[in-house]
Amino acid sequence: MNLHEYQGKSILKKFGVAIQEGKVVEQIEDAESIAKKLSDETGTKWFVIKAQIHAGGRGKGTVSETGSHGVVLAKGIDKVNETVKGILGGHLNTAQTNGVGKLVNKVLIAEDVYYPGDSEPSEFYMSVLLDREVGRNIIMYSTEGGMDIETVAEETPHLIFKEEVDPRVGLQGFQTRKIAYNLGLSGKAMKEMTKFVTALYNAYEGCDASMLEINPVLKTSDDKIIAVDAKVTLDDSSLFRHSEYALMRDKSEEDSTEIEADEAGLNFVKLDGNVGCMVNGAGLAMATMDIIKLSGGNPANFLDVGGTADAERVEKAFNIILKDKNVKAILINIFGGIVRCDRVAQGIVDAYQNYGSFPVPLIVRLQGTNAKEAKELIDNSGLDVISVVQLQDAADKVKEVLS
Ligand code: GDP
Ligand code: MN
Repeated sequence: MNLHEYQGKSILKKFGVAIQEGKVVEQIEDAESIAKKLSDETGTKWFVIKAQIHAGGRGKGTVSETGSHGVVLAKGIDKVNETVKGILGGHLNTAQTNGVGKLVNKVLIAEDVYYPGDSEPSEFYMSVLLDREVGRNIIMYSTEGGMDIETVAEETPHLIFKEEVDPRVGLQGFQTRKIAYNLGLSGKAMKEMTKFVTALYNAYEGCDASMLEINPVLKTSDDKIIAVDAKVTLDDSSLFRHSEYALMRDKSEEDSTEIEADEAGLNFVKLDGNVGCMVNGAGLAMATMDIIKLSGGNPANFLDVGGTADAERVEKAFNIILKDKNVKAILINIFGGIVRCDRVAQGIVDAYQNYGSFPVPLIVRLQGTNAKEAKELIDNSGLDVISVVQLQDAADKVKEVLS
């Protein structure tokens, strides 16, 4: 589950990570009073106004309606008000929103932390995540903060460092010092960075995150280390023990079909291809997607219908797959282990019939218990369903109906 920046920061703060403080505005009328609260008596403080959407690149993004950027500096209460008006309720397009602007329902008014002082502020990159290759959590960091990290990785990979954490002993002091040193810090800034990294790692473990990404981490002109941005992804499977985080879910930011599937108890992930897949078991679903790809097709989704593929469930799955107008064929691949294939076949036939005219070719492969009866049932149903026995044949048939 992804969180908004302001939500992520509120969690980080609890674990002692220094953040850029701010308040969230949902109604334009509230902007002024919030800015007043955060302001000093002169009313001339600088603020940064930040659109809260589940996508990065907001700073360079633009709001369709007003042309405003998604992250804007503003000095004084009037300017804050005006800037919030230019962002809240608009649609923000960034490099990560795939050409469809995202409605901005919330805006963060935060205090400017790039104030002048003894030294120049500097921006770093830092993330904590699981490195599947080494099987350990790593802290990934770079001196090239504030930039798109994929670009850094491509153009200057030597500027990205990785620190592995041994799960038996946890993050060690020498490691946090090494990170601060590699970032070119010394004195107070070095000490602050070691504290920052320790707190960040504690937050990662403590809130069951699957990823924390802070870009930029800022060294202020008076050598404080602050999280200016926060991308926090929590492990969905851990939400049962973090009810307060589960409440942070913003469904308006999620794919509506995925939400519907979730409510129906189907494990569904939308993809970009044109072959809808309905499979039981996650492993078989992955293998099915692989073979579609190897045969020259492109899966439109991952869908694990689970153990009970009855008519109701199959119909629900059809509805969800067919919401995607890119889908040009559906492949059902079910292995009857506990569930009997003939029962699944009956489910498919019933669901198919309920549809009246089924909009795309349907290829069905049922294997396992009562597979023979299942094939007969489908072949004798008189419906326009292609049934096959071998998975490779299924993939070939998909290719055939698409060409
Ligand atoms: P993103 O573009 O979605 O990644 O949003 P960020 O929160 O990272 O903000 C974008 C950029 O705005 C940062 O890289 C900073 O350079 C800049 N920025 C953020 N906060 C402040 C601030 O308080 N003062 C100034 N001057 N710049 C800021
Ligand atoms: Mn950022």
